[in-house]
Amino acid sequence: MRNNLQSPKPVILLNIDSLMSEPLEIATQTGRAPALKFLMENGQFIPNMVSSFPTMSVTIDSSLLTGTYADQHHVPGLNWFDHSRKEIINYGTGFRETFRLGVRRSVHNMLYRLNNEHLSSDVSTIYEELGNRGIPSASINSFVYRGNTPRRLQVPRLFSTLTRFEKGKWTSHTPPLFSLGLFSKLRPWGFTSQIAAGNYKYTARELRTLIRKNKLPAFTFCIFQDMDLRLHFKGPKDLKGITQIDREIQKTLNLYPSWEEALKRNIWMVMGDNGHSPTGSKHREFAIDLRKLLQTYRIARIERPVRKKDQLVVCVNQRMAYIYVLDKNLPLSAIIERLRNDRRLDVIACKKDDSIRIVSGMREGSLTFRPTGDYQDVYDQTWSIEGNPELLDLKVTSEKKLSYGDYPDALARVYSALHSHSGRFIVVNAKPGYEFKAQLTPAHLSGAAHGSLHRQESLVPLVIAGTTEQPTYPRLVDMKEFILRICSQQYRR
Ligand SMILES: [Zn+2]
Repeated sequence: MRNNLQSPKPVILLNIDSLMSEPLEIATQTGRAPALKFLMENGQFIPNMVSSFPTMSVTIDSSLLTGTYADQHHVPGLNWFDHSRKEIINYGTGFRETFRLGVRRSVHNMLYRLNNEHLSSDVSTIYEELGNRGIPSASINSFVYRGNTPRRLQVPRLFSTLTRFEKGKWTSHTPPLFSLGLFSKLRPWGFTSQIAAGNYKYTARELRTLIRKNKLPAFTFCIFQDMDLRLHFKGPKDLKGITQIDREIQKTLNLYPSWEEALKRNIWMVMGDNGHSPTGSKHREFAIDLRKLLQTYRIARIERPVRKKDQLVVCVNQRMAYIYVLDKNLPLSAIIERLRNDRRLDVIACKKDDSIRIVSGMREGSLTFRPTGDYQDVYDQTWSIEGNPELLDLKVTSEKKLSYGDYPDALARVYSALHSHSGRFIVVNAKPGYEFKAQLTPAHLSGAAHGSLHRQESLVPLVIAGTTEQPTYPRLVDMKEFILRICSQQYRR
């Protein structure tokens, strides 16, 4: 299994949720994050990796692990409507909403259905592909974890009544090494105070256990889940979360005779998953109430099953929302006309025949596009486009070359959200500063929110240390190929 010439370097990918380039640079330049500074100075720093869309963790992690956008992996967001079952799927957006929807349902959705039903079986994860080649991997603290190894998981007895699993036990396929809060731990006596994911200290301790026991597999994916919540309340400029996590990375690097040695023995990568857009503080002005905007229609209520007479379902993902039109006699265009009168909506998208149509509450005209055509974008994808390119801030040259401004990789990402699941629906994005309010969605006032297509939340940093290799394009969707490339160069069967 080992390459004879020199021992292979395990890849350790640390996903610090909501890590953004600017605060990362400030933290490292002002002495608040020496470990991250060391990795940046001794590696490559890509400040503007493009995330997935919607910019919500489950969709992003699914893109990272499968190398596809939501049109292929089929995890449309934290909140969406399953047309075939007539059921709102929520993986746990916030305490209040989850409570309303039933903890039972969202725990079940998050822990079981996400990996075993929703994440498409037509795509494979990094763990599965490495497993097929006999190369081991590890997942620490990630809700998206599908691998090849059948594993019996159990909810602690205290919480077993919260789930739909019989006696709180279920089987999932995971990577060979797997850690997720109380359900499965690498350290037999490890403690976590949260039901599901553990905090940043938990993640770091689990990683250090693998290092200490000399058990690091070819690829380890670790998620630090704490910063996101902090930033929602403190706003995107908060640095304390970075400092706290950096301290854990220092302790991890300290397990080696020197930090240089840690780099000689491993490839370290640190990334963010989504950025944050600061939100305003006056509730009335900054929360867009879609129910109010569409109040002449009958909108399903989230706490009860969808009824025959419901015309619309609204599923909010903070600054992005899916609006489903259940009433077959109600044309999408009627809803879209209503929406485009609101100047707080910057990108409104729906399918039209085999194309995508974009309109906006802020700009005139429309833009229609579909995959393949004469226009070639910076990621070598080709498109047919017609109409006003300003609606997606596209820069078009006379040679029909396309590049992106405020909405990175917009064409592929909008296309992916509209093809992520079945049903008649519209995708809406709030302009920076605003977020959607749906029934009981937590509003992040005076803080920050994400979910939309805008660059504020779509561009994230990536630090790569211990190799000179790079992903082909600076996008999270290109990370899978990159990781498989460096693992298979080193680990041969
Ligand atoms: Zn968040």
